[in-house]
Amino acid sequence: MKFVSTRAKQAVTLSEAIRRGAAPDGGLYVPERLPRFEAGELPAGLPLPRLAERLLKPFFVDDALDVHLGDICANAFNFPVPLVTPDPARPGLRALELFHGPTGAFKDFGTRFLMGALDRMARPGERFTVLVATSGDTGGAAGCAAEGRENVSLAILYPQGRVSAFQEHQLTCWGEGVAAFSVKGDFDACQALVKSAFADVALTRRFNLTSANSINIARLLPQMVYLAGAALDVHKASGVAPGFIIPSGNLGHALAALYARAIGAPIGPIVVATNANDALSRWAATGLYQPLPSVATLANAMDIGAPNNFERLAALEPGQRAVSVERVLDDAIRARISEDFARSGYVWCPHSAIGAESWHRLPEAAREQRVWISAATAHPYKFADIVEPLTGSAIVPSPALEAVLKRRSEKRAIKADPQTLARALADTFRPAHAGEGVPA
Ligand SMILES: *Cc1c(COP(=O)(O)O)cnc(C)c1O
Repeated sequence: MKFVSTRAKQAVTLSEAIRRGAAPDGGLYVPERLPRFEAGELPAGLPLPRLAERLLKPFFVDDALDVHLGDICANAFNFPVPLVTPDPARPGLRALELFHGPTGAFKDFGTRFLMGALDRMARPGERFTVLVATSGDTGGAAGCAAEGRENVSLAILYPQGRVSAFQEHQLTCWGEGVAAFSVKGDFDACQALVKSAFADVALTRRFNLTSANSINIARLLPQMVYLAGAALDVHKASGVAPGFIIPSGNLGHALAALYARAIGAPIGPIVVATNANDALSRWAATGLYQPLPSVATLANAMDIGAPNNFERLAALEPGQRAVSVERVLDDAIRARISEDFARSGYVWCPHSAIGAESWHRLPEAAREQRVWISAATAHPYKFADIVEPLTGSAIVPSPALEAVLKRRSEKRAIKADPQTLARALADTFRPAHAGEGVPA
């Protein structure tokens, strides 16, 4: 299987697409063509690592990573993904709880898969240094996923004083090759710093810099697996392909749902659920896509004005990219969290509440026709400051989040300046190639 950019059609291997993240022409890598599984080729009830191997195999054929696929899947899918009925009075709505991993959000799957792939791609004596600018879930998930890897180091850059206390802890509590830098500036300054590092050819070579950005194809592909797994289970039990509701920001998760359906998982209609950020609902209404500045909402991991995976969606065939878009504003997020807690005791995080609210807005006939699976993308404990005042009840962290809280936190404050970052990297990490820096 080869991968091509959404802009030019020059094909690269999977390893090359992972190593580069974005294509040099500014486009995103997509599979040259999507494989297709026939009914019966994907049985329900397989453990996730086994389903992952089977589903992802065609994407790995002919690549050097192929022999490592089983190991990478075993490491990325090593925690439970329960499909629950939040309210027994409304059995048509299921929540796929994707937040039982080490950092309490679905990004654990993709980042673990990516770091596992990079770790095994390294040539003898080679190391990757991943740079990530973050204001939320990605940095913590990447930190956990990179910790202790033989051939991967990670530098996390986050804006000083602009993340919550829990978030900061989750960004700064990883060791063994992971370092957190608290940058004197805002998130844009962090991103600019990462950009300047990649523009510095000598620095990029010295540390073999790469990115853990959500556009990396190695983050997108594994997200198909648990969606397909849940769909297979519901289809087997009910005889009808379930609908999916995906709370979306950059659209990576929704793309995974579209890919899963296109390759043959029994998935019916797909609803892309957004917060106030309007680019996707305008596109759905008018057919015109226009990137917009981002708007701050309660569901901050989805505060994206210009979803960077839109290009991948546009590259699908019309039948494959059929979705509807539902836009949910902050007041409706609050109301959904309070109302559902009062009715059933179930607690949504603000992102997952957008999914639940979107289900309620479906026409009654659509709700009756099939089971709908809404992706519960983060543990509500991570957003306790928003959720607890709405439910009036303390949220108990999952054992995994509890473990994070017990870790020691360490960070280094740096100025938002390229030379300072280069020095900090040199102080912190070994060079990427054995012998680097020693004159030949
Ligand atoms: C990242 C994230 C999303 C949005 O996912 P995309 O792939 O960017 O669409 C939704 N909810 C949570 C909790 C997230 O961390």
